[in-house]
Amino acid sequence: MNQNEIFLLKLGEVVLKGLNRRSFEDKLLANVRRRIRHCGSFQVTLRQSTIYVEPAQDDCDMEAAYTACRQVFGVAAVARAVPCEKTVEAIVATAKAYLGEALAAARSFKVESKRADKTFFMNSIQLSQAVGGDLAELFPNVTVDVHKPDLTVFVEIREKYAYVHAPAVSGAGGLPVGMGGHAVSLLSGGIDSPVSSWMMARRGVELEMVHFVSPPYTSQQAQDKVLELARLLTAYCGRMLVHIVPFTEIQEEIRKNCPEEYFTLIMRRFMMRLAEAVAKKAGAKALITGESLGQVASQTMLALGVTEDVTTLPVLRPLIGMDKVEIIRIAREIGTFDTSILPYEDCCTVFTPRHPATRPNLEDVRAAESKLDVEGLVAKAMAGEQWVRVKY
Ligand code: ATP
Ligand code: MG
Repeated sequence: MNQNEIFLLKLGEVVLKGLNRRSFEDKLLANVRRRIRHCGSFQVTLRQSTIYVEPAQDDCDMEAAYTACRQVFGVAAVARAVPCEKTVEAIVATAKAYLGEALAAARSFKVESKRADKTFFMNSIQLSQAVGGDLAELFPNVTVDVHKPDLTVFVEIREKYAYVHAPAVSGAGGLPVGMGGHAVSLLSGGIDSPVSSWMMARRGVELEMVHFVSPPYTSQQAQDKVLELARLLTAYCGRMLVHIVPFTEIQEEIRKNCPEEYFTLIMRRFMMRLAEAVAKKAGAKALITGESLGQVASQTMLALGVTEDVTTLPVLRPLIGMDKVEIIRIAREIGTFDTSILPYEDCCTVFTPRHPATRPNLEDVRAAESKLDVEGLVAKAMAGEQWVRVKY
């Protein structure tokens, strides 16, 4: 593979204007730099809505950097560009070698050129015409069509080299992480919550995770699985803090003192309170869950109302209108599915009622809960909180 290859990253959401646009670009540049740092030394610069990622050393891991660039939110598309000498002959030869198959398969094509090096002896129109003319001779079955071509061959003249590339492949899209505020995501070991976390990160939200554990009912493996899920998400979201909050005593108290049909709902109210406490300390302004309307008894509309009754923070539920098959498709795409289906228990799956209330009445639930020392239980759980910093 050619060591002088570069990547061109196209920005997403180009409708952004003014200050937003500046902060979009600054965040994105910083995020790209951070996320490819482990692949070697790169020069990352922005020009005309394109980020140029150029290796600054011979030993850069280009494959890893390419994968990483495609996972950075805010990047709409990525093209790999092949370098060559800055002559028409070299550019044509490179296009032939690199895009020959695509050119042979297309019915029509055009060449689009850009010059960063304004001292180059042709302007971009002349260069496009020269390269296009030569390619048309080399591939007689393809006609030039500057309006609606099947294939566009891109040529860029930069300082040291000329670059040839085909249209870009899609990137992760969305907004750069950090632009959308800071939220605490409730991460279980299931399929849904890694997906909901990913979806909010894609809208630019910086995440901090909270995970509730109930030893001895839940195992160390179950906790490790959640940390692994968080680690998988760092490929998109960057490093993150996972708060591990003990939940055993709360669950035991609920089981001892509350009607069985409300076990899950009261437990979920405690999760919200604890997540809010974590958010307050972290300065986060919203909570995120993997809830989806109607998926289980605790996710009916009434149940969701009972759950969020205890928090004043917005509860973001990006999966609310999605089918499980859609959620699974995303989980596979982002690479969390195989870990999610490892068979370890979650605290939600211990003490599950046989007949959970699906049409709960808020006042009844509040009354049932009043048997508990809510504040004391929350304070005690928070006192047992632990943190793990998860890195890529
Ligand atoms: P998932 O696949 O995310 O586990 P689920 O369909 O199994 O979701 P529940 O178990 O009812 O649904 O949980 C709903 C949401 O509550 C989860 O998506 C997650 O955001 C949060 N949650 C559940 N268990 C935990 C836990 N142990 N720690 C942190 N958050 C949790
Ligand atoms: Mg779950």
